[in-house]
Amino acid sequence: METKPKTVTLVDVHCHLDMKHFDKDREELVQTMKREKIIALTNTISPDNYLYTKQLFEAHAGTVKVCPGLYPTEAHDISDKDLQEYCQQLRQCKEDFVGIGEIGLDKHESNDEKLFEKQKKGFRAMIELAIELDKPCFIHTRKAESEVLDILAEYVEEKKFKKFCLHCFMGKKKLIKRIKELGLYCSIPLIVLNTQSFQHLVEELPLTSILVETDSPFLNPSKERNSPLNIPLIYDEIARIKGYDKVELPLIVYNNYRRITL
Ligand SMILES: [Zn+2]
Repeated sequence: METKPKTVTLVDVHCHLDMKHFDKDREELVQTMKREKIIALTNTISPDNYLYTKQLFEAHAGTVKVCPGLYPTEAHDISDKDLQEYCQQLRQCKEDFVGIGEIGLDKHESNDEKLFEKQKKGFRAMIELAIELDKPCFIHTRKAESEVLDILAEYVEEKKFKKFCLHCFMGKKKLIKRIKELGLYCSIPLIVLNTQSFQHLVEELPLTSILVETDSPFLNPSKERNSPLNIPLIYDEIARIKGYDKVELPLIVYNNYRRITL
């Protein structure tokens, strides 16, 4: 039996398809994504990782969109000169990427004040580049949620820039109010299937602030390798929580993606 063609593209805004977990079947995965009309924003963590990943997906730029990032712990070691050079390189190839990520702050890995200052410096440099290029930011935050929101609030209020998406946000419930006030986006991971805090986050957020991610190969409730092919399960769960039409929901999320990446 022929299945009905899907018309709306499904979007995974945060995954890591360069990782070794995909070495054996990366090509096959991308072909299946094309058939299923799933696109993915593969986030990178450093200048080298960006260049490597960009090459890896050169032939599939329409399906896998590689985002330059600077992971918080990668910001520990980057010199001012290398950071500036990275930003300059990205200015020169700004047509090659739709967003910047992942960037952010993380106190889980290290609680050293000096290193945290370096994280903040890298985070701000990447946000300022995103504002200059008018690209969205995909943001990681662990044990530093209010610090991240304080920084984002500055840019929202002073620069009127709102293209911020918090990836896999696990901060305290009371911070959700602040996220809503600032008009930030959140990308909802597959663990929404079995994690109450994400179900609550979906309940609280307006539909227009919701994006979807897998963080592949991680964050699969079944502990198996995650992949962008699991994206439809997240859409279905969001539709269930919101009491919203399953068929309509992908269009809403796609419009959110278009709005943030335009
Ligand atoms: Zn990630």
